[in-house]
Amino acid sequence: MSIIIQEDMTVQKKLEVLSDAAKYDVACTSSGVDRSGGGSSGIGNSVACGICHTFSADGRCISLLKILMTNECIFDCKYCFNRASNDVLRATFTPEEICSLTIEFYRRNYIEGLFLSSGVLKTPDHTMELMCKTLRMLREVYQFNGYIHCKAVPGADPVLVEMTGWYADRMSVNLELPTADSLRMLAPNKTRKNILRPMKQIQIGRIENKGKAAFNRLPFIEEESALVLPDNYKNNIAAPASVLQDVQDIIAADSIKSSFGVIKAPSINRGFVPAGQSTQMIIGATPESDYQIMSVAEALYQKFDLKRVFYSAYISINEDNSLPAVNQGPPLLREHRLYQADWLLRFYGFQAAELLSESRPNFNVLMDPKCNWAIGHLEQFPVEVNKADYYTLLRVPGIGVKSAQRIVKARKTAILSFEDLKKMGVVLKRAIYFITCAGRMMYPVKIEENYITSMLLRVKEKLPFDMDASTAYKQLSLFDDMNFTAANAQIGSFL
Ligand code: SF4
Repeated sequence: MSIIIQEDMTVQKKLEVLSDAAKYDVACTSSGVDRSGGGSSGIGNSVACGICHTFSADGRCISLLKILMTNECIFDCKYCFNRASNDVLRATFTPEEICSLTIEFYRRNYIEGLFLSSGVLKTPDHTMELMCKTLRMLREVYQFNGYIHCKAVPGADPVLVEMTGWYADRMSVNLELPTADSLRMLAPNKTRKNILRPMKQIQIGRIENKGKAAFNRLPFIEEESALVLPDNYKNNIAAPASVLQDVQDIIAADSIKSSFGVIKAPSINRGFVPAGQSTQMIIGATPESDYQIMSVAEALYQKFDLKRVFYSAYISINEDNSLPAVNQGPPLLREHRLYQADWLLRFYGFQAAELLSESRPNFNVLMDPKCNWAIGHLEQFPVEVNKADYYTLLRVPGIGVKSAQRIVKARKTAILSFEDLKKMGVVLKRAIYFITCAGRMMYPVKIEENYITSMLLRVKEKLPFDMDASTAYKQLSLFDDMNFTAANAQIGSFL
């Protein structure tokens, strides 16, 4: 192992190294909080976080200073550019450097806030403490009131995680890989328990501290944490047999009911992780199916109240026997389908087991998951838009949340026509195979799987990364990933 540490590195050089090193983390958005500036004394606000400088694959806005505290790391996750065994230039910011960079960039209107992640420097506790100090300084010394997203370091003392949570808007703990087996194989220094514990802590903290008044903070060392996983937590699993093995970890960890500590919050009352938490899974480095991945995401949403699960297409950076040979670039189309399915879980009332099954474990990458589901459930169509309930409307391809709401509202006063639906934003090119208006279809249509499939595949879909459908068609029988060599080359600009 060889770590190149350059002494006397300028802040600019550190910024170069540590912003580049942060680009692989996609669990970063500036949504979820709506807080105005702190009057005349505070700097910044998190209301206008929609101002974007960069867009990621699914259109999420990134207008944050996105950096690592350090890219030094004692861990050796096989997929990671910053792993201990890689010979890369290492750098570490001081808390003061991060604060002044954030403030300077904010004043120049380059950023809306800060996204701070880190390698593990010396120990998880040491790293978490440095991050906590940074956030405290930003909030209390620099009076920065903008958005801050901070990583919780797995294995760090819960007291440090909590302290950080009082200064951050959002926190995230990366699940990294969908199953415990994969984690053991590719991230041997991390355990599922060390990842789920801070997640649970943040969830409980948000519930327990909701609406609490400000109070005085005690020094870290005076505090104790009571968050302990029950000894028998592995034996408490009450998941149905149909639930995949790896979801059981998450269900079991949900049984932690104890408070995580007696620590008190900072003197300024910002709330505890007010914008909630998110996580990230790497897709394509290990053999899990889409069904496994969506089941894990669903369990995380239900049991940990996550705001977002991010899916990060595996990018081949390191040579290692336990990593897959990826000749076609990162599986971006698969990532895109997972994001679409994730949307269906969160906003459309779908369950993972409706979209996929053990006998059909992967999405058809050629078609969005909702169309794919509808084609497999033609017995439920067509639906009459003037009568169907809101959740049934949401299941119709071409009808989104807004258009379903508009339909429900508008039909109280009139019988809707196809022309009305078009004005409401319904994508008729997709919807016409699945709906009737006043008992009639728009055109005589065969309700037949192959016919509707071929018609839907003709509808040009807006895909990220300028993928074109003809390239996608070549993969028809493989349910596999596209050749993203060109996209791979650009990936840095999207993250
Ligand atoms: S903990 Fe793992 S993923 Fe994170 S920086 Fe270290 S080696 Fe990379």
